[in-house]
Amino acid sequence: MQLILQEIALLWPGKVDGTDFVRYISPMSEHQHDHNEGSNLSEMDLRVRALETILVEKGYIETAALDRIVELYETKIGPHIGAQVIAKAWSDPSFRKSLLDDASKAVNEFTQVGRVGEHLIAVENTPQVHNMIVCTLCSCYPTDVLGLPPTWYKSFAYRSRVVKEPRAVLADFGVTLPAETEIRVWDSTAETRYLVVPMRPAGTEGWSEERLAKLITRDSMVGTGLPKKPSEVA
Ligand code: FE
Repeated sequence: MQLILQEIALLWPGKVDGTDFVRYISPMSEHQHDHNEGSNLSEMDLRVRALETILVEKGYIETAALDRIVELYETKIGPHIGAQVIAKAWSDPSFRKSLLDDASKAVNEFTQVGRVGEHLIAVENTPQVHNMIVCTLCSCYPTDVLGLPPTWYKSFAYRSRVVKEPRAVLADFGVTLPAETEIRVWDSTAETRYLVVPMRPAGTEGWSEERLAKLITRDSMVGTGLPKKPSEVA
């Protein structure tokens, strides 16, 4: 929900003046911020607080429910869920097929919260094709399986450059792919999110899903990284 509010806030039209928004700031946030100056919140925080307050006042959301969702995203939902999904896809050919056919359905057994309406698509890396995900508009991200997006994912630099020069962005992340590997960039939306299925590293034959999951990094599921090498994990 926090992310949804952030995304709505990004689209909020018009100039944001901190003083206009102070009256909308929810008392919920007071434990986190000192409001004596009324301007300590970032512009995005102000937008999020304003939207949250309006939605609560109109009865569209309940603060208790919102708190619970935020707590889940802060404590329980993270890339370890995506890693479990990928490890299973690497180990179980029928699950891999299900994941590629309908990722929303396939990941249901792993997720912690009910669907929020987005459609999840799994895109598989091969020696021929490397997939990367972005949200060029704002910060849409497969939160159910990867948790909260990293700051760089939401940055203008990433959102604009990955589309124009994905190979250079990969180099910034320390990843060099063979020149013949095609790079596909998938633009997420509020309705459609993507999860990259990285290639299973060589030398992991016979590994359990639990052990395989340790190789799978968040960035490898966004496409800005590769899984760890077997020698990098215990
Ligand atoms: Fe977005």
